[in-house]
Amino acid sequence: MSKFWSPLTASLVPYVPGEQPKDKTYIKLNTNENPYPPSPKVIAAIKNAANADLRLYPDPTCEDLVKAAAAYYGLPAGQVFAGNGSDEILAFAFAAFFDPAKKLLFPDITYSFYKVYAKLYGLRAELIPLDEQFQVRVEDFRVDNGGIVVPNPNAPTAELLPLDDIRKLLADHPDQVVIIDEAYIDFGGQSAIELIGDYPNLLVVQTLSKSRSLAGLRVGFAFGSEELIEGLNRIKNSFNSYTIDRLALAGAVAAIEDDDYFKGTTAKVVATRERVTEQLLAMDFKVTDSKANFVFISHNRLEAQVIFQQLRDKGVLVRYFNQPRIDGYLRVSIGTDEEMDAFIQALQEIV
Ligand code: PMP
Repeated sequence: MSKFWSPLTASLVPYVPGEQPKDKTYIKLNTNENPYPPSPKVIAAIKNAANADLRLYPDPTCEDLVKAAAAYYGLPAGQVFAGNGSDEILAFAFAAFFDPAKKLLFPDITYSFYKVYAKLYGLRAELIPLDEQFQVRVEDFRVDNGGIVVPNPNAPTAELLPLDDIRKLLADHPDQVVIIDEAYIDFGGQSAIELIGDYPNLLVVQTLSKSRSLAGLRVGFAFGSEELIEGLNRIKNSFNSYTIDRLALAGAVAAIEDDDYFKGTTAKVVATRERVTEQLLAMDFKVTDSKANFVFISHNRLEAQVIFQQLRDKGVLVRYFNQPRIDGYLRVSIGTDEEMDAFIQALQEIV
């Protein structure tokens, strides 16, 4: 606490991201990064952009990147927004669309940044409980609200909500913005982008951090009706119009364009996930039905916190959430086959 802090600063409970150890010897399965490097074309594009033009401000409209993403998804450029990671876009969207006089709804077990942004923007959050199987029940969102956020697949449960349920959610709340956070959609889900034409209240948020192996570049997108994209641009240009830097813009365009590379690495992550799931089931773990690049697991006998600590002692980092309902679970990002073999071997020594 400081006398220099505003009442807002004093009231905040900031998000605590997963550990990023300097020690590279850890097998790092704790923050859902992609184990494969970005496309070589991305590295080449960034090197190419590292030139004297860095003295110039970047394009505030991110035109090349917006056009590349629009072409990729078959949308007009006016329905695409690019930002500095999906976290930034979510922050803009919370400011742009949610009515502080009403409740903002999101699942009780979900990405914990939503709560932080709600607080930052003075929004009252109502947490809608997942069912016993950790499923989102869209009927339970039928309460008076000023906006809804649902990640799909959800994190950390990894469970996917079918598009039919998203349609119901959008139709139930035509006067509220519904954000579908698709950070993990490329690992087995069907994107809600195809619903945008039917629902002007839908904002789909995606990121290059996971399926394009670019968490370090900080680029994300939002897709939606022109009025929603215009709303995001109003917030962005009232905050910092140069959100994406020149190097990131260059790398991100190359990432979108190298579709073959993305499809190859994504398929590898999915194949590894399926194999590891079988191994975990055989070791008495409960494993949710993951359509993401991580698995959410609980052992039938041993406590999650104990497994977490013992894995850490053996040099394997996973994520433990000290939170009601999920404190018996661990979230484990899918690494390379070699990393996952080492993880399974370490587990075998523990359970
Ligand atoms: N949404 C969800 C559900 C996430 O898990 C994450 C990553 N932690 C993000 C958004 C943010 O991703 P980024 O800011 O890297 O795009």
